[in-house]
Amino acid sequence: MIALPHSTTKGPAALGVDRLCWGPAKGRAIIEDLRFSVHPGEMLAVVGPNGAGKSSLLRCLYRYQRPTSGHVRLDDEDIWSLKPRAVARRVSTVLQEPASDFGLTVAEIVELGLTPHLERFSRRDYRPVEEALALMNLTAFAARDFASLSGGEKQRVMIARALVQKPDLLILDEPTNHLDVRHQLEVLALLSALSTTVIVSLHDLALASAHADRVLVLDKGRQVQLGAPLDVLTPGTIRRTFEVEAAIDSHPATGRPRFSFHLNQTTT
Ligand code: ADP
Ligand code: MG
Repeated sequence: MIALPHSTTKGPAALGVDRLCWGPAKGRAIIEDLRFSVHPGEMLAVVGPNGAGKSSLLRCLYRYQRPTSGHVRLDDEDIWSLKPRAVARRVSTVLQEPASDFGLTVAEIVELGLTPHLERFSRRDYRPVEEALALMNLTAFAARDFASLSGGEKQRVMIARALVQKPDLLILDEPTNHLDVRHQLEVLALLSALSTTVIVSLHDLALASAHADRVLVLDKGRQVQLGAPLDVLTPGTIRRTFEVEAAIDSHPATGRPRFSFHLNQTTT
């Protein structure tokens, strides 16, 4: 278990999602009637095909989009009854498209994660920043201009910034997209070792299965399955949701589930 640089007084958050619906004003519902809870310290992976509603769901969870109906509760409090700053002190996010040019160095970007906590921690306290940079293998990049980094390096900086915020709930939208294989594995291993509650959308079903405590499968805005990875990521569910055939066996070196996919020629 890795404790974050500063633990908050409340500790890992529980999240409750109750009959959650969201869609653009006057538009069709994009997510419909989602009901689940995430336990303190748990890591939940959200998977589903492109357009399933993963990002829309996450935007509701970090209090960016107000539900059309239903509720999102952080430790039993509706997040829309909390002030944005109160949510920012407990929930941090890593979003899909990190802004590319802030004109800041890597260390300055990571330091931004301290902003919600400035009443408690001096801006000159660089220890949490240094710890987060080290966790993300970014120490050598601290003085670099953020804009000069590769996509994967930027992604790791945004994860370091989210860690410095010492969240009780960490929400990440496809954080492994730009990462090479080694950094994908390292980031997922780190996330699952964190003591905090983590909700992460992932494309890679093998990564989700190997690292998450539970997996939520979304399709067309609906909750298809929620449960332990191997109970949920079955060939039948994968066929119905992703429209591919899956073979699942055990990796000879790690014993972890190994997924291989192919198109079902008879259905196309
Ligand atoms: P995912 O992250 O699973 O790929 P998204 O949540 O980004 O899915 O999108 C789900 C669907 O909702 C897509 O069809 C997308 O075009 C649509 N959508 C998302 N946000 C909006 C919006 N603000 N207005 C209209 N449609 C939207
Ligand atoms: Mg998305």
